[in-house]
Amino acid sequence: MHLASLPSRRAGARPDSPCLSDETVGTLTNDAFAARVEAASRVFATHGVARGTVVAVRLPNRTDLVVALFAAWRLGAAVTPVNPALAHGEVEYQVADSGSHVLVTHDGLSLEGVTTLAPEDLTATDAGVDVGPAEPDLDDLALLVYTSGTTGCPKGVELTHANLDAMTAAMVEALSLDEDDHSLLILPLFHVNGIVVSVLSPLRAGGQATIAGRFNPQTFFATLETARPTYFSGVPAIYTMLANLPAEIAPDTSSLRFVVCGAAPMPAALIGRIEERFGVVLVEGYGLSEGTCASTSNPLHGVRKPGTVGVALPGQTVAVMAPDGTLVPRGEHGEVVIQGPTVMRGYLNRPEETAKALKDGWLHTGDVGVLDEDGYLRIVDRVKDMIIRGGENIYPQEIEHAIHAHPAVLEAAVVGRPHPVMGEEPVAFVALKDGASLDEDELVAFLTQRIAKFKLPTSVTFLDEVPKNPLGKFDKPRLRTTVASTRA
Ligand code: ATP
Repeated sequence: MHLASLPSRRAGARPDSPCLSDETVGTLTNDAFAARVEAASRVFATHGVARGTVVAVRLPNRTDLVVALFAAWRLGAAVTPVNPALAHGEVEYQVADSGSHVLVTHDGLSLEGVTTLAPEDLTATDAGVDVGPAEPDLDDLALLVYTSGTTGCPKGVELTHANLDAMTAAMVEALSLDEDDHSLLILPLFHVNGIVVSVLSPLRAGGQATIAGRFNPQTFFATLETARPTYFSGVPAIYTMLANLPAEIAPDTSSLRFVVCGAAPMPAALIGRIEERFGVVLVEGYGLSEGTCASTSNPLHGVRKPGTVGVALPGQTVAVMAPDGTLVPRGEHGEVVIQGPTVMRGYLNRPEETAKALKDGWLHTGDVGVLDEDGYLRIVDRVKDMIIRGGENIYPQEIEHAIHAHPAVLEAAVVGRPHPVMGEEPVAFVALKDGASLDEDELVAFLTQRIAKFKLPTSVTFLDEVPKNPLGKFDKPRLRTTVASTRA
């Protein structure tokens, strides 16, 4: 089966089963979704979208985005999803870098030399040219996702249909998805996590997806009770907010089978609080855009080890590598590397960066990790976030976990601040739970019991909220810029 084929064309698919729902169109059956895709592909074809071209899609979370995706695939073209929050110049960069000559956007933004289409243009059933039956090759480019730029200039990650096919097959197997499954999408659709875990995987299984708007802790439970999904996928920042809501808020979570978390480190204590609140298992996964989404997960059925990100997903090999390129034995630290059919083709038009990322046949993740004796991976930190203080390596995540263990703490981020003698020193940003109080001396006294003296943060800044990027990860580049201007 080819993922690009419409859910309605799959063997056994029921034409009148629900496929996608959102606030703009209500619920689309498999047949109604197919009709929209057909209409959109005719419109796209009129504007020169064909095999080998790329369509930029800049829409908030809504069904049209998924329609545009399948319509482009129908023609053998690829899609680059654009974060609607990007500034004009950033959109221009992505559209130019990806070579897109058509942009689908909801707000009339126009770029020189680029055809702009509104989502409404895509549903004109009488428009466009007839396009015969077509299906892309597995090796064709399907998605061009841009890295968030936390590691420099955003790069286009080339994911093929084969990548998506392998990823969704692994997801369906790992989460035992079937036609009764129903996901609630609360993560952005311009990122692989949202697209793969919450849309493509349930559709592949013959199930359905409800596309919600941006996550809002005040309205989330109402949405959950109305949609009655069997699962949703969130990030630690979302779970932190949900765990912090007053205990009296007790929604009906009986439709859920499990919930999913990934994208950033999830404190082990938070996993327990969420499982208690929702009454289901939290499946934590780890991965990156360059690996099409997830590479490991704590099994839904089987031994789960909080504090680890679980074992390799079906079809993938996860190992740990020393700087000299040799694989290290279990129990030893090194860079996490990945092999398998979900590894990207490369970065678009960046042969040097591609060669570095895919050196020796392994995808180099830039994460430091360690495998335990059972093959469970623990992520220690990102290589680039490591702080070197007077020659000692310090992993900020270890300090963050120690701070998080304090009952007054809601969230904590640690970054390095330049120091004239030591090179760098760790500094912490902490947000407290509602109504809790804690000062710097009390926190440092608490940490002294848990981590070595050289790892203690030299300053603690209390904030209402620790700044995060659109994917809910701590905005460490911004925090570093803030601290670089303060005196050591
Ligand atoms: P950029 O590459 O521009 O920095 P990004 O890293 O945010 O962007 P993603 O592909 O979204 O791009 O993020 C992948 C990274 O997220 C991983 O390499 C890892 O550092 C982190 N990550 C993902 N899941 C987990 C997890 N469960 N625990 C810890 N870290 C995780």
